Amino acid sequence: MKIAILTSGGDSAGMNAVVRSVVKAGILKGCEMWVVREGYEGLVRGNTEHSEQQAQATTQATVAEVQNEVANQPILAQTDSDKNLLHNLRFGDGELLKDGTSEYVGGRTLKGRYIVRVGWDDVRGWFAQGGTLIGTARSAAFRTPEGRLAAAFNLVKEGIDALVVCGGDGSLTGADVFRSEWPQLIAELHTQSLITDAQMEAHSHLKIVGLVGSIDNDMSMTDLTIGAPTALQRICEAIDNINSTAYSHSRAFVLEVMGRDCGWLALLAGVAGGADFIFIPERPPNVMPWEDEMCAEIDRHRKIGKRKTIVIVAEGAHDSDLKPVHAEYVKQVLTDRLGLDTRVTTLGHTQRGGRPCAFDRILPTLQGVEAVEALLEAEPGTPSYMIGVQENKITRVPLMEAVKMTRAVAAAVREKDFAKAMTLRGPEFAEQLDGFHHVSCLADESHMIPVEKRMRVGIIHMGAPAGGMNAATRAAARYCFRQGHTPLAIHNGFRGLLDDNVDELTWLGVDAWMARGGSELGTNRTLPSVDLGAVASKFQQFNFHALLIIGGFEAFNALLILEEGRKHYPAFHIPMVHLPATISNNVPMTEYSLGSDTSLNALVDACDAIKQSASASRNRVFVVETQGGKCGYIAAMGALATGASLVYTPEDGINLDMLRRDVRFLKTRYSLDPPGRSEGRLVIRSEASSSVYTTSVITKMLQEEGGTLFDARSASLGHTLQGGIPSPMDRARAARLSLKCMAFLERHHEALLKQPPHKTKHASPDSAAVITIQASSLEWVPVQEMVQHADMANRRGKESWWAGVRELVEAMVGRPQFLGMHKSELQASELSRK
Ligand code: ADP
Repeated sequence: MKIAILTSGGDSAGMNAVVRSVVKAGILKGCEMWVVREGYEGLVRGNTEHSEQQAQATTQATVAEVQNEVANQPILAQTDSDKNLLHNLRFGDGELLKDGTSEYVGGRTLKGRYIVRVGWDDVRGWFAQGGTLIGTARSAAFRTPEGRLAAAFNLVKEGIDALVVCGGDGSLTGADVFRSEWPQLIAELHTQSLITDAQMEAHSHLKIVGLVGSIDNDMSMTDLTIGAPTALQRICEAIDNINSTAYSHSRAFVLEVMGRDCGWLALLAGVAGGADFIFIPERPPNVMPWEDEMCAEIDRHRKIGKRKTIVIVAEGAHDSDLKPVHAEYVKQVLTDRLGLDTRVTTLGHTQRGGRPCAFDRILPTLQGVEAVEALLEAEPGTPSYMIGVQENKITRVPLMEAVKMTRAVAAAVREKDFAKAMTLRGPEFAEQLDGFHHVSCLADESHMIPVEKRMRVGIIHMGAPAGGMNAATRAAARYCFRQGHTPLAIHNGFRGLLDDNVDELTWLGVDAWMARGGSELGTNRTLPSVDLGAVASKFQQFNFHALLIIGGFEAFNALLILEEGRKHYPAFHIPMVHLPATISNNVPMTEYSLGSDTSLNALVDACDAIKQSASASRNRVFVVETQGGKCGYIAAMGALATGASLVYTPEDGINLDMLRRDVRFLKTRYSLDPPGRSEGRLVIRSEASSSVYTTSVITKMLQEEGGTLFDARSASLGHTLQGGIPSPMDRARAARLSLKCMAFLERHHEALLKQPPHKTKHASPDSAAVITIQASSLEWVPVQEMVQHADMANRRGKESWWAGVRELVEAMVGRPQFLGMHKSELQASELSRK
């Protein structure tokens, strides 16, 4: 199959990772890979040297006319983009992987060529760059039937039979229009004698798959679009910075953020950045005039002593009459009515993102692979798919249905049917908005639940600190205030509890916690078994009705001990819940723990810098050691996110055969780089992969074996992997999962209240549970059930859902191919390079 990929519409971080992944996955599957520069515009323009011949050959000049017309327009990014692309081209293994021969071997230029064949090394290292290196454009020509005819002609001419489109809903609509028209377009080209009978036969169908590249996260039927996490990261960095100046001067800030018709960026920024009020298109303020509602809310916050005010306005925000809400006007209201010293900040294009965060490297890589699979499996009758993601599962959904649903949101908003707009955005969006109100609004007695149902909730952190622990605690505490419960902070884990280090949290006290790394409560690994009887008596003394444990494997273990302790101690007959938070992501059954996103970002930042240094030396391998205990998640995912050449995990261990094979791979790889143009490469080694083949041993071995081809150095990331400031994704997930935990505690508390009052309460085993994410769904797993899936000795799950990631890491650097190459091929390629 010949597959072409293009990026279209607004650029977003992660588009390069998509191109890299699709190109590599395609080559691995034996396809010929092409890129189309400048989006649909490039498709319409095609490659001019061919089209001139074709234009002469035909009297009916429709296609040629269009091509000439666009070709006469100012040349699109022909200079900068050319330089950029050429700069990024590498002429290495394209020569070697037979099916990935690079267009550029021989140094042909790109001038006048928009559809170009690419090879393996052409896309190497594209991960770390923002935007899209193959260019994107908004193409008026492609919107016309003539433009699409020219595009079809150009594809057939190059023999391309499948197209991967990465863009927003506009681009994906274009893709679907193109596909549905394809048979007529081909017939028309044939009628015009622009294509032969054989070409018509061979190209009767066009296979298309869509990937959603958009910072707005506005596409239905997928939880996330490529680029949205990075955009959110940039916004939250700005809010974090603004927070400190707002606090210092006791100011109010009104922030306008991007998002077109979608409020996702504004909503998530509100949740992760701790805003006081937000305006999003899908749910304008209920009360009219909204100025009253906003001022009342902010005034309540100010009255209890809040020094800073943050209001976020989505670019498409309006009131319930669809009258636009502008940041400047909001400022005016806050100044005039509340007398606040208010400033407006418009973040503008900085939000497009630049360097992609870890998520915007991993997601596009996985989705790119899936896109190629979808094309290979596509039959003429199957619909075009869009590749999406649901929680942690990569999905295929019918492209046109997703586009239709996306459009329906905008239509619902136009019709002021905001309830429908919210439903169409999906349940998670509504949950996040609900969560925002629970966490950010100060409630009065009228919102609270009846006194007899109110709880005293103990909140405790366990294990090593992880990003999002504080955000989860903040959300839980704020939920308590809203409902009338009492949130009790247990400081310094179970040791602290035994020392009576427990106090009540306050609404204002937790205000800045969502942006704080580490653990505000203090955390350690002491288990309640240190003195279970004493722990039970402290539960009684503080009169806990429910317990929220935030932490990693220890937290799970602690919950297990407490649940088993119910046999002996009535004090443990309360609902108890564990919210997984650990950078190791080693809690059984859940695919996601708070902190793992923050940690991967820290790893990506560090590895980008290390790789840069390694590349500057031209031929250096860096062995990077990661934390993670006996769980290789962070190493494997980190390797995927940084494009590492090798990864060692505790699950697979290290042995001599592996090392011998790996050395051979690196030698082959370096021997194929053009002389003087080798790249730095990374080897990621989880600290507990082997007690014998340590980072230092492997580094020395590579130094010795690398000879003149490469040298080796090592770096240990250690505790930097805890990541400092938590990522917005960790903060937002912390809030969402924490609120679910609180609802779980409430539910089980109510069930206990229904038991006869004169009898000892008996909590059911499922009231001690762990909140988990499994593939596309959120599941509560009773702690006793978790045990069956836990490898207690190695402190990890028995099965690791990411086991296939290591294989993918190796595939993405072409390891099996390089290792499988015969000596004769190597010599031949070396000779040809000389
Ligand atoms: P986005 O993909 O980010 O939503 P646009 O809406 O600008 O961005 O769409 C990008 C490009 O997709 C447009 O410039 C146009 O070339 C193409 N496109 C959009 N809608 C259609 C359509 N209905 N028919 C054909 N092409 C379209």
